Amino acid sequence: LTLLLIGAGGREHALAWKLAQSPLCRRLLIAPGNPGTAAHGTNLALDVTDHAAIVAACRQEGVDVVVVGPEAPLVAGLVDALSEAGIRAFGPNAAAAQLEGSKAFTKELCREFAIPTAGFARFRAVEPALAHLRAGRIPVVVKADGLAAGKGVVVAETLGQAEAAVETMLGGGMGAAGAEVVIEDCMVGEEASLFALCDGTRAVLLGTAQDHKRVHDGDKGPNTGGMGAYSPAPVLTPDLEAEVMERIIRPTLDGMRARGTPFSGILYAGLMLTADGPMLIEYNTRFGDPECEVLMPRLASDLVPLLLAAAEGDLSGVTPEWRDEVALTVIMAAPGYPGPVARGSEIRGLSEAEAAGALVFQASTRRDGERLVAEGGRVLAVTALGRTVREAQAKAYAALDRIDWPEGFCRRDIGWRAVARET
Ligand code: ATP
Repeated sequence: LTLLLIGAGGREHALAWKLAQSPLCRRLLIAPGNPGTAAHGTNLALDVTDHAAIVAACRQEGVDVVVVGPEAPLVAGLVDALSEAGIRAFGPNAAAAQLEGSKAFTKELCREFAIPTAGFARFRAVEPALAHLRAGRIPVVVKADGLAAGKGVVVAETLGQAEAAVETMLGGGMGAAGAEVVIEDCMVGEEASLFALCDGTRAVLLGTAQDHKRVHDGDKGPNTGGMGAYSPAPVLTPDLEAEVMERIIRPTLDGMRARGTPFSGILYAGLMLTADGPMLIEYNTRFGDPECEVLMPRLASDLVPLLLAAAEGDLSGVTPEWRDEVALTVIMAAPGYPGPVARGSEIRGLSEAEAAGALVFQASTRRDGERLVAEGGRVLAVTALGRTVREAQAKAYAALDRIDWPEGFCRRDIGWRAVARET
């Protein structure tokens, strides 16, 4: 098969690494890709917002199936454009991607189908939203409805913070994503993620993970896209996994189907494990980044048949197999991240790190002649496998320490929760 993978981050490098290992994959194209994906296939310099250009490239290159990595093209309807052109694609169409694209949509679905989640109210005007906050409890969570690359959520510890968030979002400070806000009750518990591979009707568990959102050790500092992750998430016991599949994932698929917008693709549930059981924080409709960088190395099965079965609407009989190992990834970021970053510093020593037993996925790098340079915020994801989280952690950091990139920084405590559970 000829596969086209859409995206350019560490997630796509991990997917490219995995897809290229499939005996079914004769040719792998990545658009636009990055220097890391180029080692596993051919990068195509396509504008992924230009659906007509992607359809044309698929026809020209004889692409059999398109795998969409990031959320923006899903929400923008790339899968719809491909399907209309008769090209097979893995990922939800725009109607189903609303599970990620609109927080209000997901909350209404939860309400309609009794899926456990925090209580909420929706507002399009400032005054009623402020009145709701003043009558309610603190802490409270204020969210912009639309996609905001992880920056649209404020967990407000004071009424003043909550009011300011409402005013910024509804005042146009976040553009169209903030035209509506969702105000949620604050849940308390440990967070974990669960991934389900879905074919519109059925869902198959595709692993669990925990990430580290804050930029500094000890979960301090501002939120990021994620500074590291490990899989599986030991806090999600087999019983809890089954409960999430039964009480959250299944009614979501049933509800989406009942509404005439069946969900196919990766359903990534952000969960809060509360005293009252697991509750949904949010859905994403694709693999997480950096979670994909720990899921792919653990997956023993060929990924291609899994994605094809989901895209073709028949996951019956599909059971992914896993290595009996834990994976842990540490993100190296450019100085300044998650604020404005300095670009262009040279990175060396990736093969030394890989020789130390790690996989180095490139998230935001650029080739500058012979040199590899940092291009964006999160730059590398250094992943290692181990029998325990502690062992995977030790291997990942030992490899990372061989990377010669003095400007880069990372957290030193990725995996601390799981390591604490092991001891
Ligand atoms: P992501 O970067 O995961 O896509 P996002 O911006 O889409 O994030 P959410 O995952 O909905 O937003 O929220 C971000 C974080 O805010 C959560 O990981 C969680 O820590 C916190 N949070 C969100 N909703 C709640 C809630 N109702 N109660 C407590 N904490 C919450």
